Parts: sequence; C-alpha cells; structure tokens
Amino acid sequence: MHKRRCCCGRWASWADGGRVFRLRPIATGSLFLLGSAGVTQRNGDRLIGFTLPQRGARGRVVRLDQTVSAVLAAHAYPPQIARLLADALVLTALLGDLLRPEDGQLTLQAKGEGGPVKLLVADYKAGALRGYASQDLDRRFAAAETLKALFGKGYLVITLDQTEASERYQGIVELGGETLAEAAEIYFGNSEQLPTVVRLAGVQQADGGWTAGGMIVQHLSRSELGAARLHVEGGDADWEYVRALAGTVQADELTDPALALEDLLWRLFHEEEVRVLAPVLLSRGCRCSLDHIRGVLSQFPDAERATMRNDAGLISVDCEFCSKQFLLEV
Ligand SMILES: [Zn+2]
Repeated sequence: MHKRRCCCGRWASWADGGRVFRLRPIATGSLFLLGSAGVTQRNGDRLIGFTLPQRGARGRVVRLDQTVSAVLAAHAYPPQIARLLADALVLTALLGDLLRPEDGQLTLQAKGEGGPVKLLVADYKAGALRGYASQDLDRRFAAAETLKALFGKGYLVITLDQTEASERYQGIVELGGETLAEAAEIYFGNSEQLPTVVRLAGVQQADGGWTAGGMIVQHLSRSELGAARLHVEGGDADWEYVRALAGTVQADELTDPALALEDLLWRLFHEEEVRVLAPVLLSRGCRCSLDHIRGVLSQFPDAERATMRNDAGLISVDCEFCSKQFLLEV
C-alpha cells in the first residue's frame, strides 16, 4: 500500500496499481456530510448514496456483513452459488436504494437455462434484504464461474413494485457479460440508456461469515434528474473521468471491514465535490410470518386448500428465502 499525506492534512493510501491522486488543496473538492441520522460505528450493513454534482454523476456504495452472512447461513450452497448470491444481495441493495421503490420492493432475478444455477433471487424493501438460489442438481459446475458457465442461457429481470401506486415496472435483458456486475452495467446501458459502472465483491472470512461490498455510479442525463434543480452539469468527458476513477476501486477495498464507506469515497473522488447522503442501515428481513402466509392461503378456494392438506389436516409451506417450514391449520 502507498500512503501519502495530502495538503489538507488527511492521509491517502491506496493499493499498488490503484489510482493516482494528484494532491492539491482540498478546497477544490469538499466532502459534504448531509445529515447525520443513523450514523453508526459499524462499517457493515450500511449503504451511502452520493452525487458528484459537478460531473453529473450519482452513485451508491454498500458493505454487507451480518446480512449476507445470515442469508447464506440459512442454506448449504456450493461456493459458486454462495459467491453469486453474495453479489446479488449487494447489487440488490445498491439498486434498491438507488431506484427507491417508495414503500415498495425491488426484486432482482437471474434465470438460467442449461446451467447448474436455475434461479437467483434477491429483494429489497425498506432496507431489508433477502435472497435465495435454486440449483439444477443434474448439472455440474464448470471450472469457470462466468455467467454463461453458471446459468447457461440466462436472463436478468429487475422488478420495481410500487406499493402506494400499485404500479409495477419490470425490465428484462439477456444476462450479458461474464459477471453479475457486468450484466448490470449492460442492463443499464442498453435498456435504460444510462452509462453505469458496477463493482461487486464478496469474501468468506475465516469464521465462516461473509463480507461483501459494491458500488454503482451512473451518469445522469440532464432531463432525468432536472439539471437546473440539482445544479448538475457534466458531459461525456466528465463521465469518462468519473468512470475511470470509479473503475479503480479494488475488490479488497469493497470488502475491507476496517475501511469506512466515506473513506473509500474519499480515496476515489478526493479531488471532487462529493455530496454524501445520510447512511442507510441494512438488515436481513423476510416477510414469511405466520400471519402473512395465512393471508396468502386464505385467498385460495376451499377446494384447492383441501388438496394442500397433509394427513394431519395441516398445510405445509416452505419459505425458500430462509429455509423455514411453516405448518398451518387453515
Ligand atoms: Zn422467510
């Protein structure tokens, strides 16, 4: 690691092969902390949003630890699927906060045909994340862990359910690229016409728990975000610059439990004006309560419910997200 003291008095450090800071007075770039609600000492299970107003870009950066560990601990996935689901949870947190489905839900699904992974699902609602994957046990994993090797022919589906407005938006693209991060970049580039950088990383710690992190940065179109209102400037040259800086983030920076997300942003964009939003705390959450399941079952006609009952007259319902089984008298 290199370490150098900036003229603003802070230390910058970065890994070999990483970005180069041209150190100059910090007055040319300031870190504005907007709001302090929810500030925590923990660096994990935390997301922050940011904008680079003079470059016309916005982003999110996230790190998960207990959340991703709890999701994965509920299953006994092979390591290939565990890594994939860790990436999917990080991506879902980034998109969930970025696209803000009001009080609704964002669901990310990757569906495969002909590979060992049949389905990967993660969703986000008000800071709660959950996810699971299903495997085709007749198919073996290849040595490579590209999306093609894992899914065969695959699709990425992103669904936004807006509870208030009862509206649903769904985007579907073919799973492109080699990684989930590349697939997400292609999704936004092609279907949303939004140039986007996505980085995802996950690592299993010695104690079996996981740390996963990620970042998304997008070029804002003037029309979309109201350039005048946000004072958003920035053309293609600005975006190329932001993309180059964002692209230098290293996997071990995203997953370093000791590196605060604010410090990571500072490392990346330290010459820029970065506006940081109040942190969002994330947790693992599932909606599989007895009341919820009873409510769902009560919508089936009596005759259909009768076919679901076992010999003891109970209906068994599994939650695939948490691997829990519920037995109900309905
Ligand atoms: Zn559940």
